[in-house]
Amino acid sequence: MTDSNTGGKSTNQPRVTFFGAARMVTGSMHLLEVGGRRILLDCGSIATGRMEDAKPPEPFPFDPVSLDAVVLTHSHHDHCGRLATLVRDGYDGPIYTHATNVELLEVLLRDSARVQEREASMSRHRTGKHVEARFDTADAELTIDLCEPLDYGEAITLGNDIELTLRDAGHILGSAMATVGWRQNGRDRSLTYTGDLGRSGIDFHPPPAALPASDYLICESTYGGEIHDSVEMMAQKTGLAIRRAVREGGKILIPAFSLGRTQMVVHFLQTWMREGIVPPLDIHVDSPLGHKFAKVYDRHPEGFSVPLRIFDDIDWLENRDDAMDASLSTGSRIIIASGGMLEGGRILQHLKHHVDDPRCTLLMVSFQAPGTLGEKALQENDSIHFGGKRWNKWLAVEQVRGFSGHADHNDFLRAVQPLEGKTSQVMLVHGDADRAEKLAKAFSTRNLGRIDMPELGQTIELA
Ligand SMILES: [Zn+2]
Repeated sequence: MTDSNTGGKSTNQPRVTFFGAARMVTGSMHLLEVGGRRILLDCGSIATGRMEDAKPPEPFPFDPVSLDAVVLTHSHHDHCGRLATLVRDGYDGPIYTHATNVELLEVLLRDSARVQEREASMSRHRTGKHVEARFDTADAELTIDLCEPLDYGEAITLGNDIELTLRDAGHILGSAMATVGWRQNGRDRSLTYTGDLGRSGIDFHPPPAALPASDYLICESTYGGEIHDSVEMMAQKTGLAIRRAVREGGKILIPAFSLGRTQMVVHFLQTWMREGIVPPLDIHVDSPLGHKFAKVYDRHPEGFSVPLRIFDDIDWLENRDDAMDASLSTGSRIIIASGGMLEGGRILQHLKHHVDDPRCTLLMVSFQAPGTLGEKALQENDSIHFGGKRWNKWLAVEQVRGFSGHADHNDFLRAVQPLEGKTSQVMLVHGDADRAEKLAKAFSTRNLGRIDMPELGQTIELA
């Protein structure tokens, strides 16, 4: 395997190559070359719901063995989905990440390895050919062993006068932004990578830590140009949708990603029921993986700005029979199920039962990527195709924006304030082109130096 950009060699001029999340939101993977060290910032897949996407795996565009360190900002697939494959392909150096994130990564990797092994075995039976899992339990365990847990604010050396510090990104539990500092021509230089930056003004995670003054900034741009709904607006919209379903005697289905969104939605539904904004109803969560992540959330009250009670009066379903009982029982109830964009996951079984029931409501609480079933469900149409057939879409579909772990446009502008006049270069990643452009336009008026929106595979020299 060769490195198309550098021939696998390090150069003296610090630079970053963007191998994913370039003018799109998934596949975060950026190679920072500085002081003779090759540091990979995140190792994400382009998938939305699995550890790897369904297409045949592409080889890494660099030699995994040539890396000196990996920094992992958090355990969403689009930031960590290819990590175990990187290890399988020969990487055996340290993976620096926040200590709490190691616990989440353990849950994710063990679960994903089992899924990969099961799918490979089914494929072998079906085709009679040798099919290998993309990574197996042994790879997952090796990956976990390579993790070097860090605290926020703890600086560690990567050798050659290079230092790494993680700070709280406020995006999901254990999420971090990373600052790499080095000496160049007798001067201190630093680059900060935001990873996914959390939103402010919502009582769940503490707001992100202040961005440190850095010469270079790699900044996500998921919600450039967009403003999230306030918590009051989210509560009002959710209350309206649920009261309607209760009046009709229908179910409320909420598709949610297993890590982060599920726990956040449970917390806010509980809060709004206590406050009388949402009518009291039974809440069932059909997401075994979400349940495991919730246990980690429960062990870390320090990761939240409010007390969490996500195990009080919540029915965390463990098996499919119980899930179907909840789905087919009479009366209104709330079912939160895995599969945030309706692309697979437990939500599809519930949707099959209720998609043609006008008493029911599908409540969308996540970003729906173009082309996903979730996006099609939001469109004005009275039929929808999934599970091999076309269904009448007679249930109500409502969307509540704001259940987001991401900064919105105003959050970004506030976040970069301390960098004004200090930063010489900003590289925008993790955003569709139009959203990144809106943020670039706003940043260009803020004395932040040069603003780039790198393309896939592009190398930017740090001037
Ligand atoms: Zn994320």
